[in-house]
Amino acid sequence: MLPYGRQSINEADVEAVSEVLRGEWLTTGPYVARFEEELEKFTGAARVVSCTSGTAALHIAYAAAGTGPGDEVITTPMTFVATASGALATGAKVVFADIDETANIDPAAVEAAVTPATKIIAGVDYAGQPVEIDRLNEIAHANGALTVEDAAHSIGSLVDGRPIGSVADLTTFSFFPTKNMTTAEGGAVATLDEDLGRRAHEFHFIGLVRDRERMRYPDEGPWHQEVHEWGLNYRLSDVHAALGISQLARLEQFKKRRREIFDRYQRELAGIDGVEVHRIRDGVDPIWHLYPARILGGRRREVFEKMRERGIGVQVNYLPVYWHPLFEDLGYKRGMCPNAERFYSEQLSLPLFADLTDDDQTRVIETLAEVLAS
Ligand SMILES: *Cc1c(COP(=O)(O)O)cnc(C)c1O
Repeated sequence: MLPYGRQSINEADVEAVSEVLRGEWLTTGPYVARFEEELEKFTGAARVVSCTSGTAALHIAYAAAGTGPGDEVITTPMTFVATASGALATGAKVVFADIDETANIDPAAVEAAVTPATKIIAGVDYAGQPVEIDRLNEIAHANGALTVEDAAHSIGSLVDGRPIGSVADLTTFSFFPTKNMTTAEGGAVATLDEDLGRRAHEFHFIGLVRDRERMRYPDEGPWHQEVHEWGLNYRLSDVHAALGISQLARLEQFKKRRREIFDRYQRELAGIDGVEVHRIRDGVDPIWHLYPARILGGRRREVFEKMRERGIGVQVNYLPVYWHPLFEDLGYKRGMCPNAERFYSEQLSLPLFADLTDDDQTRVIETLAEVLAS
């Protein structure tokens, strides 16, 4: 089965990981520090904290912002569940704002959902296309809230020439194998604010405070470290970080290849009846993580099954988050975000990854055309 997404691992990646295994530090060593520095350079963030997954990154970002009971987190239903469940983990209430034509959160819907309890506005760069971050920042900051950009799809994207990681108060990345670059499991939080960065670091490091100046009992002894606020162990290992360093060096090439594949789908699907191509707004320069086709005429499930029968591992991204029983049981009702529900009912992700061959893409397009014509 041709997958919808897959990692690209070369000999340099293998060598990078082997080098760590032969060395002294398996975790919390020099590779983690270097990976974070390189991500800071690449994204333009003031501070990057690496961690064990994109899900962990979201939890860390919300926790670093001080989100808790009584706070509201506004987010999109068109995302992986972790964007919303990470907010639940802090005790906050999740408020869903509908999407626009691009499948990204609609700033007008966000504006309508803001209340005095709004703590975070969390957009998702769906498929790799950046959210309208300037408007989201404006709405958030006017209400004393912060923005979180879930950039699990978009490390390497630009918005009006600015790299993702340098435009929201907090940005989260995922390095899962299907994403644009991988550390096997892994993620990171980027922020422009040193204080948020320190809080993110401490939360992902059990809450340990090692800075003597901040200690309550600085004279306890040279071994002393203390915890002021609870945290978890969400640290990335050096083994994973070494793969990340090697993959980051390849990201621009991945972006170029992903763009070629995406553009070819846009061109060639435009000529096929029963399918609609993805909408892109001005000012964005995305790295494309997904190719989200829309299958018209109520045929999405049929097309999904027929593509799979023919060996093409299409996927659906995503079930509207509040359709998950977790949210349903909290009282969220279907019908709340009609644009997201309609998008979901038509959405079909076609194979898109850096090592996809031209021949395989030809097969995907021809098979889709055949299935739709049948
Ligand atoms: C993959 C993904 C996550 C979670 O990342 P993991 O590394 O799999 O935990 C969060 N949000 C979005 C939009 C994702 O695609």
